[in-house]
Amino acid sequence: MLSSRLRLAHRLPILLGWVILGPALAGAQAFAGQAKVDDQRLLSAGAEPGQWLMVGRTYAEDRFSPLAQINTNNIKRLGLAWFFATGTRRGLEATSLVADGVLFTTGTWSRVYALDAATGKLIWSYDPQVPRRWGAYACCDVVNRGVAVWQGRVYVGTLDGRLVALEAATGKPLWSVMTVPAGQPYTITMAPRVIHGKVILGNGGAEYPGVRGYVSAYDGADGHLVWRFYTVPGASAPAEGAAMAQARRTWSDERWQMTGGGGTVWNDIAYDPQLNLVYFGTGNPSPWNSVIRNGDGKDNLFTDSIVALDADSGAYRWHFQTTPADAWDYDADENLVLATLKIDGRPRRVVMQANKNGFFYLLDRASGEFISGKAFVAQNWASRLDPGTGRPVLAGPPYGINGRFVRPSVFGAHNWQPMAFDPGRRLAYIPAIDAPFLYQPESRFRAVAGRWSTGLNLAAQAAPAGLDPLLLEAVIRRVVGGELIAWDPVEQRARWRAKQPLPFNGGVLATSGGMVFQGTADGRFVVYDADRGAVLWQRRLPNGIIAAPMSYEIAGKQYVAVMMGFGGALGLSGGDAVLVRGRDYAGYLLVWTLDGAASLAPAKPARHNLPEPFSIRADSAALAEGDRLYNQHCAVCHGANVISASALPDLRYIDAETHRRFNAIVLGGGLSRRGMPGFADLLTAAQVEKIHAYVVKRAELTRHAKLEPRWWTAVKEFVYPKIAPLLNWLQMRKFG
Ligand code: CA
Repeated sequence: MLSSRLRLAHRLPILLGWVILGPALAGAQAFAGQAKVDDQRLLSAGAEPGQWLMVGRTYAEDRFSPLAQINTNNIKRLGLAWFFATGTRRGLEATSLVADGVLFTTGTWSRVYALDAATGKLIWSYDPQVPRRWGAYACCDVVNRGVAVWQGRVYVGTLDGRLVALEAATGKPLWSVMTVPAGQPYTITMAPRVIHGKVILGNGGAEYPGVRGYVSAYDGADGHLVWRFYTVPGASAPAEGAAMAQARRTWSDERWQMTGGGGTVWNDIAYDPQLNLVYFGTGNPSPWNSVIRNGDGKDNLFTDSIVALDADSGAYRWHFQTTPADAWDYDADENLVLATLKIDGRPRRVVMQANKNGFFYLLDRASGEFISGKAFVAQNWASRLDPGTGRPVLAGPPYGINGRFVRPSVFGAHNWQPMAFDPGRRLAYIPAIDAPFLYQPESRFRAVAGRWSTGLNLAAQAAPAGLDPLLLEAVIRRVVGGELIAWDPVEQRARWRAKQPLPFNGGVLATSGGMVFQGTADGRFVVYDADRGAVLWQRRLPNGIIAAPMSYEIAGKQYVAVMMGFGGALGLSGGDAVLVRGRDYAGYLLVWTLDGAASLAPAKPARHNLPEPFSIRADSAALAEGDRLYNQHCAVCHGANVISASALPDLRYIDAETHRRFNAIVLGGGLSRRGMPGFADLLTAAQVEKIHAYVVKRAELTRHAKLEPRWWTAVKEFVYPKIAPLLNWLQMRKFG
């Protein structure tokens, strides 16, 4: 008895300590990463300059930070505050969020990370364990563009179609709902948005048969489906209401049933609280080839459209179609920015978009009325937009049997990499892409389940199998590039253009400091003067950047954060167009501040030894067929012309053992656990043999090029860029 009393007395201070300190400690722990973000905070996110509560910062999605501590006067002092290594080597596309001192971001395979935003210390991470075979359904890498936070929860859409709610303080999963039909090749790469407690989410996959686009709203508390809006007609038409009846009239012979229709909602979403309208873009009709899809050239609603829905009910309000009867994969999923602009003397509430098709659109966001539109890059698919309706007037038939070189390409003049809008300067900053594409119909269309089925001969881009690798590089580099464009949406003209050597550069952040921040594909983080476009500061980095930066403030200090990890659509398939020798593919979150003194670990560049000699007997016809098959089926991941610019294997450098197992891998699915699907449903053994012969041929040429004397390489490097324009001109003339 006594002893137990003594023990109690001994423990009393500890117990008392817990009574007093316990809740305070628990409170502090819970506060870290709790994301106490309610509807009101989201609605007035613009009034908290130090936070970044949603990927576009506010519902207007302008990606403009009012912070100005880092500005044109002190930008030279910018340095790395801290960094976080994701330990991954593929594309990183997320914009980070910062809520009350905690930074939330995502990486490959839909992983989520919560970090101390001041120090970079990892608080928790979450891996949804996406089956690696799902990577074969990801048209454009196993990427993710970020999370949403609301009421102590973090929401992520996973590559394989789940919406998962995590406890913000711990990363513990609270619930998970499957948002796509089981087994169908849908993917989610977009960041969800939370609007009045509903999580809005779409998905991608319009290159794959069976995919019908839609966007859904789930209850943020328990994940039950509140509403769903389909973007294209389906089989159960009469029950689908007026909007689908309207869409149905714009398709021929129910041809959407052949491929699902497409029209996927795979990227950013904006919201106008006063109108209570949610805005999103829709993707390409499926298949890409409009002749197969749509003999009489009907519009195919609501593909390639900007759509407004009632946020509470998901009811259709208006749409504006940017590319009717699309033949070029001109998705309208690029980010939408809301602003109020003075047009013809009166303020108008607009929604704007730099579309994949090369035109910048300004619409009235209450009615969807077309205000104006102008090409922001050189393009040759449309001769102009009708000034009254905004409907494009085509420059001619999309493409004949032989095909045609068209600008922009399937990668668009602007893709998912978000533009930013500075409301004070009234300028949009567009990360633009310049690359032509040879659109050539496939001679025999086959819709194959779970496979790219576009109706186009993607292999038309391929260079002849025997072409010198250096000459190929010189020609390709001659015709592609990127630029950052400062665009005046009212006057519909460029204020300045900053040229960049490679296409597919990062998304953009504009700040009150009078600057524009952007990472580049060739591995630089660059700060531009917002008024003039001059480069004020830049830092060379070991890897390319495609994600958009964001900015936040903690304890009076401004930070700028950006994910670094090259990959994505053009990153995987681009070959020479986006290749940087010695690139280190390691993924990082980089966080910059004034006088930041951290330094990255030394780069470990991807090194290629000489390709191993291997021989396969094949005549020129077999090689040509292997060339066609490789560039049709393999290049989307392993790179055009067997040149990989990403962390995915460059097949010229596979070892002898892999050569011996080539058939077992390609047909038998020997590496399916690593995301390389078997192609037995698509290719025969004889065809795989031809692909292999072509790969070996490209490896052999590369081996020879690497073994030739230095002086000879130097001569070629001098001569090839000189003749590249001529070769390019001849090619363009052939397919003009
Ligand atoms: Ca598309």
